[in-house]
Amino acid sequence: MELIDGNQIAAAIAAELKAEVAAIQGRKPCIALVRVGEDPASVSYVKKKEKTAAEIGITSRIILPPVTISQPELFALLDALNADPDVDGILVQSPLPKHIDEVATFRRVSALKDVDGFNTLNLGKVAQEDDTGFVACTPAGIMELLRRTGVDLKGKHVVVVGRSLIVGKPIALLALQKKAGANGTVTICHSGTADLPALTRQADVLIAAIGRAEFVTAAMVKRGAVVIDVGINRVADPSKKNGYRLTGDVHFPSVAPLAGKITPVPGGVGPMTVAMLMKNTVKAFRLRAGQ
Ligand code: NDP
Repeated sequence: MELIDGNQIAAAIAAELKAEVAAIQGRKPCIALVRVGEDPASVSYVKKKEKTAAEIGITSRIILPPVTISQPELFALLDALNADPDVDGILVQSPLPKHIDEVATFRRVSALKDVDGFNTLNLGKVAQEDDTGFVACTPAGIMELLRRTGVDLKGKHVVVVGRSLIVGKPIALLALQKKAGANGTVTICHSGTADLPALTRQADVLIAAIGRAEFVTAAMVKRGAVVIDVGINRVADPSKKNGYRLTGDVHFPSVAPLAGKITPVPGGVGPMTVAMLMKNTVKAFRLRAGQ
């Protein structure tokens, strides 16, 4: 079994971006990070994004509207960022409060600054295999992990568990693209799938994006499969200082010994998501600057 080290690969991408940003004369790329309210996971994600941006030399602008912000007020805030010539990328941290329409909010971000890749136009470009758009960071990060660890999807059966707009659907579309490294034969599973283990056991590459701690067990995995664990779940653990531990959607102790390659949680897909956000921000800067 080979452990896929997302931290190491993300650090390599950050180093590449740092050199690229250092070579930019004048104004550096800038990302606006919008976090509504104080959700503890969101607080830590935005902090991590701010820190990584600073390490690369990307300017970040942190905007922290109160949890009571109304939909029109949030739209107005995004409109101002869309119009701001010094802002290249805009990220609205999910989850948003219940009274805010998340999809409508993602749509409000200008397609040219949509570094999270959730805008309708950018999701559509993934389906059209048009590389001028922005690919959602987690799926883009998974493809980059596979590429940099020498996993070619051509001729492979890729089974994705989960069909969210953020992970499941876009990673399935990327794996399916008629491009080098992709060209997979893709099955997408969800809560309505009959006999899920029968399908996951056929996977040469199994991508778990379910949001259920340790859901995928050894009995669901073929020996030698590449297992990509997208899940980030907080499980109560009184022995930890903060009272919880992070775990993926895969039961790592039983699956790892039979997997060909596997991502750990933490330290697998998570760091890649942040790295790809930074990559998209530099791309947005270049597109806007006509470079
Ligand atoms: P969602 O809740 O939006 O989607 C979960 C998907 O899993 C749904 O399609 C759902 O099916 C499916 N599902 C749930 N239960 C079952 C089941 N019993 N059998 C089969 N399918 C099931 O989650 P996300 O896609 O947003 O996130 C998934 C996980 O990835 C979470 O743990 C999240 O924290 C993590 N994540 C990690 C990121 C990273 O950077 N590493 C980034 C984004 C997310 P249905 O559609 O039928 O409801």
